[in-house]
Amino acid sequence: MKEEQVYLGRDEIPRQWYNIHADMPKKLDPPLHPGTQQPAKPEDFAAIFPEPLIEQEVSLEQWIPIPQDVLDVLALWRPTPLIRARHLEAALNTPAQIWFKYEGVSPAGSHKPNTAVAQAYFNKIAGTKRLATETGAGQWGSALSFACCKFGLECKVYMVKVSYHQKPYRRSLMHLWGAQVVPSPSRDTQTGRSILEKDPECPGSLGIAISEAIEDTVTHPGTKYSLGSVLNHVCLHQTVIGLETKEQFRRAGVKPDILIGCCGGGSNFAGFVFPFAGEKIRGESDYQLVGVEPAACPTMTRGEFRYDFGDTAGMTPLMPMFTLGHDFMPPGIHAGGLRYHGMAPLVSELVREEIIEARSVKQLPTFEAAVIFARTEGIVPAPESAHAIRVAIDEAIKAREEKTPKVIAFCLSGHGFLDLASYDAYFAGKLQDYEYVPQTTSS
Ligand SMILES: *Cc1c(COP(=O)(O)O)cnc(C)c1O
Repeated sequence: MKEEQVYLGRDEIPRQWYNIHADMPKKLDPPLHPGTQQPAKPEDFAAIFPEPLIEQEVSLEQWIPIPQDVLDVLALWRPTPLIRARHLEAALNTPAQIWFKYEGVSPAGSHKPNTAVAQAYFNKIAGTKRLATETGAGQWGSALSFACCKFGLECKVYMVKVSYHQKPYRRSLMHLWGAQVVPSPSRDTQTGRSILEKDPECPGSLGIAISEAIEDTVTHPGTKYSLGSVLNHVCLHQTVIGLETKEQFRRAGVKPDILIGCCGGGSNFAGFVFPFAGEKIRGESDYQLVGVEPAACPTMTRGEFRYDFGDTAGMTPLMPMFTLGHDFMPPGIHAGGLRYHGMAPLVSELVREEIIEARSVKQLPTFEAAVIFARTEGIVPAPESAHAIRVAIDEAIKAREEKTPKVIAFCLSGHGFLDLASYDAYFAGKLQDYEYVPQTTSS
């Protein structure tokens, strides 16, 4: 019998990250400075990012070594298991094989610590004392708090005020790992104070929180800023997911036909599929690679490819990417981690080159898929990850109808133990499907 759960040893974590940019025939257009709108130079980023991360951001090296100190922390939970979803296959009566790579075993319960640990490390060796960041629902804030705790850095998290009050447990995790968390808009920055003066009840937004974290960074010596998705170096750090998956499939003697991941800013999907996309670009093998986004925030399937800001306030550099416009306000779907107006430039470019395809799914069918998965495989998925499950199930049903024994693989980016209120709302019939309504955008 072939292996059904493929575990690698602690000493088998990949030693290098894979940089897909090196293999892409068309290189990305450079980011533009937010003020001058001219191509940004690496030194323009020096105020907010440490040197080693800026180098990785613009690197065209195919492989970048993972420092031993990073490997030592990743080894607390990596390599993560690749598991065959036999019970789900049986329930769907499909001839397809369904496999998932489970990133929910990390300390924060998602893939995000893969980059948080690397970012904290490179900041530490560059002399940074303190990191500032923003968080929406708290997944990124908790991942970075953990990473800062491991490397002895202070951590300040600006958490969108509605989530600060509605999602107390991720806030508790950040406290547990020693971070300072404030509801955003806060009294700690000029940006926050001026917003609160006009509207003391302002619920906050990710855009406001980013603006506060950047202001905090440039006004505190020894402080740098950290971002949990979208950027090239974040996608790079996440490639441990796909590199392990490739080795696990090799050991199981199985070749995946289709690989699926959910997309917010694109980082877990990038990490999962880039090593396979590289084989495809180099003409070594073929795979179907599918990024799944919410129909309520359909960046790749309905957005435009153009330069746009990474934040709402227009403080970040402009990046060439699929975007719904930086002033797009996504509806309050429960997959909070997928409510982002843009998409990683690397993922965007690979969609344009048709190496990767994009699909969107609605909220109710997504929760339906999550419940099927929880009732068959036993794991409660994060609502974000459930978008990938929906497409995996759709593909398995298609394989049944077409009688094709395909091998389907998806990235289970996180568990849903801190999202149970969303499941309650789903069972109470309080969730709805949203249609995307294009907004008129400036710039
Ligand atoms: C943050 C998050 C996402 C979305 O972020 P990406 O950068 O697109 O990966 C997906 N799943 C989980 C569990 C998350 O926490």
